[in-house]
Amino acid sequence: MNLMNQPESLAALAGPKCLYVDSSALEHNAREVKKALGPLVKLLAVVKGDGYGVGGVEAARIFASAGADYLGVSSVQEGVELRKAGIRAPVLVMNPILREECVAAIEHDLEITVASRQGVFDVADASRRVGRTARIHLEIETGLGRTGLPAGEVPAILDELRSCEGVHLCGIFTHMGEGHRDESSFRQFARFQAALRHVPRGLVRHVSNSAAFLKFPDMRLDMVRIGTLLYGQLPFGIRHTTLSLKNVWDFRARVLFIHDVGPGDTIGYGGDYLVKRPMKIAVVSAGYSDGFGLTAVSRPKDLSDLARYIVKMVLSYLGKGRGEGGAVRFECGVAPVVGRIGMQLTMVDVTGLPVSVGDEASVSIRPTAGARLPRVYLRDGVPYLIRMPWGEMRPVEFGKSAGYTGREVQK
Ligand SMILES: *Cc1c(COP(=O)(O)O)cnc(C)c1O
Repeated sequence: MNLMNQPESLAALAGPKCLYVDSSALEHNAREVKKALGPLVKLLAVVKGDGYGVGGVEAARIFASAGADYLGVSSVQEGVELRKAGIRAPVLVMNPILREECVAAIEHDLEITVASRQGVFDVADASRRVGRTARIHLEIETGLGRTGLPAGEVPAILDELRSCEGVHLCGIFTHMGEGHRDESSFRQFARFQAALRHVPRGLVRHVSNSAAFLKFPDMRLDMVRIGTLLYGQLPFGIRHTTLSLKNVWDFRARVLFIHDVGPGDTIGYGGDYLVKRPMKIAVVSAGYSDGFGLTAVSRPKDLSDLARYIVKMVLSYLGKGRGEGGAVRFECGVAPVVGRIGMQLTMVDVTGLPVSVGDEASVSIRPTAGARLPRVYLRDGVPYLIRMPWGEMRPVEFGKSAGYTGREVQK
């Protein structure tokens, strides 16, 4: 019997909630970015943070086969995971690493980010111990205020490198702060170019993340490092693109219970939600442990931002408006959350909707938050692989559509 014919049988394998990951959409997005880059600019596909939550290994496999020249991770561990899965593409660990990690990085053929003189010594030392040349990229700090070598120290470090055996300098890069204004990016780029005056030709120079790639074609240099766009998302503050990007993930929870409530009843922890009319309530298998209802709070950037924030707060105090993640979507309609979102369960108002126990609801989350969710990978709408929460990969031999189709991201 084919277990994958129905979402019900998917639940038998994956449990009452899962993250559907559309591998065809991942591949499409990577090809779309490749096409926009043309043949001369390399693509480093960023798969850090477990592939922005969709699963680092599977994302890396798909991007590499769609033409990514490099893969980017944030730690040696993430890089080793790719190597153990048999992925052979060049991998850059984009953050500085600890001295203790240098040996493993070299043994697994990971390219290392070096951001200090001490970093050069550590890598050189590890290279001697492993008996193999280490490949490094220099990171220059140009204004993000995070990691990197001050541009002024570049000549000294190049001297150091010339006398270091076993350390091969392959690339040089900086990371953009995506400032509110374009000037901050131009300033960062100018500082980076000043640092480039000292370096030998032939290094892979890379600066742009998704936002810079879209906004500043002149900053593409030899390679761009793209994450967000490959996952079908637009970078913060950018609302339009001519790229055709596809949505990559869909978090589905199931209805576990349904009940009717009436005036005077309360719903959820704290009893904050007072029922005023007869309602049909569905309890769905999603909560803040999956990242549902968690939104990043940042300081308002200007007065209009602050005004928007205040209006939102006032509306939500009055019980109006719909906070982000404040609803789930059934095939038959949208159901607003009532009461507080729990850790594992959330109540939604399905009054007037033909919803029954077992139905699937789409819940909007950032998948980086739902690390413990099973991932169900689909190609052309057909499941082919399940990654269980403990990391086990279960191939699915053959299946029919689970009813999921990638949606176009707004252009
Ligand atoms: C995360 C990251 C990127 C990718 O950024 P996106 O905005 O997701 O494209 C690029 N470079 C570095 C160093 C990063 O840490």
